[in-house]
Amino acid sequence: MGYAILMVEDEEGLLVTVGDRLVAEGYAFESAKNGNEGLAKALDGAHDLVILDVMLPGKDGFAVCRELRERGSMIPVLMLTARSQLEDKVAGLRLGADDYLCKPFEMPELLARIEALLRRAEASHHALDTAPRSKGPAGDLVVDLKRGIVVHQGAESALSAQEIKLLDYLYRHPDAIISREELLHSVWGYDPDITTRTIDVHVARLKQKLGDVNDVQRYIHTIRGIGYKFTPPD
Ligand code: CA
Repeated sequence: MGYAILMVEDEEGLLVTVGDRLVAEGYAFESAKNGNEGLAKALDGAHDLVILDVMLPGKDGFAVCRELRERGSMIPVLMLTARSQLEDKVAGLRLGADDYLCKPFEMPELLARIEALLRRAEASHHALDTAPRSKGPAGDLVVDLKRGIVVHQGAESALSAQEIKLLDYLYRHPDAIISREELLHSVWGYDPDITTRTIDVHVARLKQKLGDVNDVQRYIHTIRGIGYKFTPPD
């Protein structure tokens, strides 16, 4: 059975080009032309992945992405950004996008990103079958990978599919020094364009959700010049 993909984009020509190709590749395709419609459709649970343009009428792609995560959706989000705007990519990842692609893009590149994201989401679903859960001291932190949430001091954050996979990998390698290259290979595992900077952005966002901010690093420790070390709660 094919996967269903939602594309939120206001450029009619691009919607048609991408839609035709995805359907030819065996995907079910649906589109939305503004942020509000896109958010509603992305939340309806009928899609496996969202291609989300940043520049949209009404709610922009960043706002849509943030709201999706705030509402607990773990749907993989591939953000479309303008080539010149590096800050857009970083901002998108911080808000919970799983990957980004610069416009203009080649179709094979888009297809490869979609396949990789769907594979990763699949892998994180499988990981959930044996997902660890834990509570920090005094219930200060609750990690529930099966539900895809972290609760820190009573504040619940939804985890993206990629964050679930990252955290699951860390749980499986407790107290070991893990290099950025290892994370790149084992958790992302596909993409010559993904840099260690991308990994740092994902890790930084995860740390924030765990309450590891500023000088407080109880769970994810930065090992300067190498990578990270994870001390599981409890
Ligand atoms: Ca647009």
